[in-house]
Amino acid sequence: MSNQKQLQFETSSALLKNYSRYEVEFVNGEGAYLFDTNGKKYLDFLSGIAVTGFGHNHPLITDAVKEQAEKLFHVSNLFQSSGQETLAEKLVNHSGLDNVFFCNSGTEANEAAIKFARKWGQGRFSIITAIGGFHGRTMGSLSASAQYKLWDGFAPLTPGFSYVPFNDVEAIENSIDDNTVAVMLEPIQGESGINVPSEDYLNEVKELCSKHNLLFIIDEVQTGMGRTGKMFAFQWENIKPDIITLAKGLANGLPLGAVICTKEIGYFLTPGSHGSTFGGNPIAVASANVVLDLLDEECFEKNILLGEKLKEEIYSLNNKNIKSVRGKGLMIGVEFKSNLSTKKVAAELLENGVVAGTAGENVLRLLPPFIITEEEIELFLKEFTYIINK
Ligand SMILES: *Cc1c(COP(=O)(O)O)cnc(C)c1O
Repeated sequence: MSNQKQLQFETSSALLKNYSRYEVEFVNGEGAYLFDTNGKKYLDFLSGIAVTGFGHNHPLITDAVKEQAEKLFHVSNLFQSSGQETLAEKLVNHSGLDNVFFCNSGTEANEAAIKFARKWGQGRFSIITAIGGFHGRTMGSLSASAQYKLWDGFAPLTPGFSYVPFNDVEAIENSIDDNTVAVMLEPIQGESGINVPSEDYLNEVKELCSKHNLLFIIDEVQTGMGRTGKMFAFQWENIKPDIITLAKGLANGLPLGAVICTKEIGYFLTPGSHGSTFGGNPIAVASANVVLDLLDEECFEKNILLGEKLKEEIYSLNNKNIKSVRGKGLMIGVEFKSNLSTKKVAAELLENGVVAGTAGENVLRLLPPFIITEEEIELFLKEFTYIINK
């Protein structure tokens, strides 16, 4: 460990400096563990930011990817794709919606959702989103992400968005005008700190959308694919959105995004109206088809059980530096009081062989893979307790 510190990390100036990176490079992964260039082993409690839900080098996923890679990398969306069809059927069955469009990332999925809503709106174009929301970095989804720090220097934003406080239904109602076509929300705000809304929030927003003939777009890019202990986080409520966007965990680490929508919206997306060269790439789709098969009731139950255990154990530490512990399933935020820096905790965890994330103001973000065991949770707790009590 101390050797690690003395190692001088030389980073090529050829790389743009838009990321602040830890001085660690991982070169191998196996299950819930990562290994760096020195062979040091780390417990992965971040999953590449809610991406590698089934861990690293999962045998079934790796086999499916290898098999597809040896057959065909890419042909474009000018041709039939039975892999995409199978995956689309699975997503339709899980969501209760009708049609699927594939792209490569979360921001692209949200761009498509914005376009789909406008197309359906036939002149209505404005979308209400929540302050603190995160929907991506390209101009449309950036404009949907109501956070000044993301906008700095990138004005003018795409017109047609209005912003309301999260977890405030009345604010949405007051913001509706003749141009409004949709409401777009994360069911739990991920990037801004694992903010869980009150229980009826999504239900009430859905009611409001139905009353005003607005689409309800749910951004499940981070919360989806089993992360919260349901296939989609909105399924904790008794609602059906009109559009769902997915990416992160969908293909366990290969770039794949998806938009699932109702047939009433799909109706307007005629040939040529939208598209993507790489979207639904055969290798990413082969991986996602295995992911969907692995995401069964047993997996969901385990995510809920282990998530509750992790939350309860952190809560019961009764540590004076912890302000709150929140989240659903294996999407957990630990908010610290301002005297303890989350960045410092994450850095010290890393030094002690645990990878965790940060989010929002002062929140440690825990997104362990679904294959985690009780023993690994205990291992995490041991390191975590040691660091916050130091
Ligand atoms: C990560 C994220 C995105 C953006 O996904 P990218 O693949 O990085 O473009 C969008 N929405 C939510 C909720 C996210 O967490």
